Amino acid sequence: MSPTAFQKCIDPQCGATYSVDEILVACPRCGNLLDVQYDWEKMSPPKNLSHFEQYWSQRNIPQRFSGVWRFHELLPFTELENCLTVGEGQTILRESEGVARFTGMKSGNLFLQYEGMNPSGSFKDNGMVAATTHAKLVGAKSAACASTGNTSASLALYCSCIGWMKAIIFIGSGKIAYGKLSQALDYGAMTLQIHGDFDDAMARVKEVSKELGIYLVNSVNPFRLEGQKTIMFRILEALRWNVPDWIVVPGGNLGNSSAFGKAFHELKMLGLISKIPRLAVINAAGADTLYRLYEQEGIRWNGGSPDRTRINAFFEQMNRENRHASTIASAIEINRPVNLEKCLRALEWCDGVVRQVTDQQILDAKAQVGACGFGCEPASAASVAGTKVLREEGIIQPDERVVCVLTGHQLKDPTATVAYHSGDKQKFEETLAVRGVTQAEYANHPLQVENDVDDIIAAIREIDN
Ligand SMILES: *Cc1c(COP(=O)(O)O)cnc(C)c1O
Ligand SMILES: [Zn+2]
Repeated sequence: MSPTAFQKCIDPQCGATYSVDEILVACPRCGNLLDVQYDWEKMSPPKNLSHFEQYWSQRNIPQRFSGVWRFHELLPFTELENCLTVGEGQTILRESEGVARFTGMKSGNLFLQYEGMNPSGSFKDNGMVAATTHAKLVGAKSAACASTGNTSASLALYCSCIGWMKAIIFIGSGKIAYGKLSQALDYGAMTLQIHGDFDDAMARVKEVSKELGIYLVNSVNPFRLEGQKTIMFRILEALRWNVPDWIVVPGGNLGNSSAFGKAFHELKMLGLISKIPRLAVINAAGADTLYRLYEQEGIRWNGGSPDRTRINAFFEQMNRENRHASTIASAIEINRPVNLEKCLRALEWCDGVVRQVTDQQILDAKAQVGACGFGCEPASAASVAGTKVLREEGIIQPDERVVCVLTGHQLKDPTATVAYHSGDKQKFEETLAVRGVTQAEYANHPLQVENDVDDIIAAIREIDN
């Protein structure tokens, strides 16, 4: 394996380093999170980002076709030929006139990075390809994750494609969108429905995988986050290597936001960009731990020593109140984000802000995203809803360039979409009203018409007027 890559504890007070051959999900010395780091001095990183354009003409090589591995030189923890791929990262950045109008941005300045185009339909594939590549290098035979759905869909897909590794999936009971559960089952993964929520499933999978020696692919896995850095590289690529002013991303377990911060920090350090964009992480109001800690309690990275006494007190109070995450945006329905400290570091590097948005705001934003061409799942729309809030507050200026990351595909969670649009009162009650959603302002109701040509034509004429 690459002698110039290693794992390193994120706590500067500890700073312990470990080989990339080791399977670790936390620092054995202090228990904090690990990064994958590189000895850049001993490597020859590219001198400018346009360097990567030479790979556009090498799409016959699977690793160059991959939207992750064509940036291999920026995540070189193993040689290119060892890297697995199923064609992930063929995603697109698109300007959206309609979403610009909805969020109050100037026309031409609002971009959507559509990660729903990945093989399993969410950004998770960017990370999973890196984690499974690492799993192969260390000889793992089975891999596990706890998931709100998309991580499990992604792991299940990679395991079924590569053939030699077994996927074991832990999900909370009743808290998973059907599109996602159906993927895990269809790809043939062993699926365990734990009687509890995501946070419970997460705690159990850590214990069980340690006991049984199973490779853990949750976003505590530092290799996953290396793959997720490439989402930012592709955004820069699509903007002809210009850095936008803002990256807006939903926050759940905070792996993405952590990876994005690391990506820009490294690019800046390598002299490949001259400025770092600001980062906005958007929580759902029903799962707003980061928002409370960062914006209300004022917790900061603080050079690697965030106020852990107050963070612990916060979680203890959450336990005492028996507070559980609750939002229609199931992918970010998480109250104990495992990458909290890494995300605080990213917010520091990127002069970040955190906001929370209600399920009503999320669903209205989602309907706008759909009407403008890229359907997304509820969690993804938090980025658009959050942009609108930050624009209204005057934090984002209308002439700044904003990229909202659409993390997952529309078809992941059809239940929420149908409940919003169909006009079926019972579905609205059961799925949305219970979450405090009172209206569907942008609903596109299907029309009920008789099985009769004249009636159908009359109905169409009516709508056209
Ligand atoms: C996993 C996921 C998120 C949350 O990302 P984190 O890295 O856990 O913060 C958001 N949206 C979708 C669609 C996801 O699958
Ligand atoms: Zn440590």
